[in-house]
Amino acid sequence: MSGGILLRAERVGKRFGGFVALQDIDLELRAGERLGLIGPNGSGKSTFVNCISGDFAAHDGQVTLGGQKLDGLKPHRRARLGLARTFQLPQPFTSLTVLENVRVPLLFAGEAANATRRAMECLEQVELAAKADKLPRELTQVEQRRLELARAIALRPQLLIADEAMAGLSHAEVDQILALLRRLNAAGTAVIMIEHIMRAVTEFSERLIVFVAGRKIADGAPREVLALPEVEGAYLGR
Ligand code: ADP
Ligand code: MG
Repeated sequence: MSGGILLRAERVGKRFGGFVALQDIDLELRAGERLGLIGPNGSGKSTFVNCISGDFAAHDGQVTLGGQKLDGLKPHRRARLGLARTFQLPQPFTSLTVLENVRVPLLFAGEAANATRRAMECLEQVELAAKADKLPRELTQVEQRRLELARAIALRPQLLIADEAMAGLSHAEVDQILALLRRLNAAGTAVIMIEHIMRAVTEFSERLIVFVAGRKIADGAPREVLALPEVEGAYLGR
């Protein structure tokens, strides 16, 4: 289910001191698209997410969402424009309950009146409603991943970027997260899935891009991209 261009990144780059972590990344993503982003550890995947989400304020190049320039906007402003991301390591507020954690983005967005109802809806979507009054540390690992997703979808994003949302999960738990992302996508949310679990990313993605050493080296249909010798080489050379 894909429409017009939702996200456009042009020549995005990021340096840490003298180290070039990301260079000249061009990417167009259509509304409703399912994109997989793969690459060896340290290839710049999370750095790219941080540039798109606004968690890294300063970077080279330009990013637009629905035609609107995002440069200079803080993460919570981008969230209100429809951009959500999850963190590789879940970052819940540890002293807040599960429900309160999901209420936070809604309160930030000025939706206090409906925050509790909407937060419960999100918990139901990720099948965590029964744990609403628990603290994050009382959740299992997969439940913590689902909480991270519930927080991300609270504002009904047009784009969800899931940064290794399945790391450390069992086969069955991976399937749970996959099903959840598919449901969100079927309802119209574009998804960028960053994942090392190849089964998951190839099953899910309509298109695959590959980062190696801060550059995009491939972009296309998953089967064709995975057959490229330079992609295979990047993984074997790890
Ligand atoms: P990936 O997500 O593909 O594993 P990252 O984007 O996390 O890779 O990291 C890309 C490179 O940038 C790595 O060499 C990493 O050490 C470096 N890096 C990432 N974030 C920072 C930071 N905040 N400060 C310094 N170096 C960083
Ligand atoms: Mg990463």
